[in-house]
Amino acid sequence: MATLHDRITAVHTRINTACAQAGRPPDAVGLLCVSKTQPADVVRAAHACGERHFGENYVQEALDKMAALTDLRAELVWHFIGPLQSNKSRAVAEAFDWVHSVDSLKLARRLSEQRPPHLPPLQICVQVNVDDEDSKSGVSPPEALDLVTQVASLPRLQLRGLMSIPAPHPDPRHRGAHDALAALLHAFNRVRGLQMDTLSMGMSHDLEAAIAAGATWVRVGTALFGARAPKA
Ligand SMILES: *Cc1c(COP(=O)(O)O)cnc(C)c1O
Repeated sequence: MATLHDRITAVHTRINTACAQAGRPPDAVGLLCVSKTQPADVVRAAHACGERHFGENYVQEALDKMAALTDLRAELVWHFIGPLQSNKSRAVAEAFDWVHSVDSLKLARRLSEQRPPHLPPLQICVQVNVDDEDSKSGVSPPEALDLVTQVASLPRLQLRGLMSIPAPHPDPRHRGAHDALAALLHAFNRVRGLQMDTLSMGMSHDLEAAIAAGATWVRVGTALFGARAPKA
């Protein structure tokens, strides 16, 4: 059975190979370890293997995990990647470094107001529904242009880029949705004079296609930690 160390090494090999094939430097893409449903000890073990960036979807679960890992706080970078209700924004503004899933101006304003002054600005991606299906999360591309423009003006937030969770495609090499998100980022930067540098896209099954299209964070859970038990 592969150890955690083996699986981490295998994911880095996939990332490096995909970067080489895309003519991108290997450090152009960060590995965001998606540790939702995994206990704190698993995060600790991944940290011991050299990982620093962890993605969480559920606020209370993440806070409990952070409390068990306070000795590592200075070395860990916590990314919130799940749907976020406004009534839980304060805990996220206080405890996380990044939020990838901003999908409304109301949420962005609250995060900015609630970000403690002694911390650096919260790093923000706007979540875009590139497929335009009836998904609950993410804004449509036209809404995203307004939202990134407004996020850029909020004082305690730093707008970094765009995030997407495209509908699963039968061919993991299919780039359509990833190319669409990359094109939006470049168009928004151009028309609004923004300097977004982050594309959070690609997961365990399709990280190669996302890297080919320009991903700068790939968010990987299953390939590192195994299949998750269904959320009770
Ligand atoms: C769970 C999750 C992931 C990780 O997905 P895997 O297929 O397990 O790699 C990535 N991004 C988000 C937003 C998630 O919720």
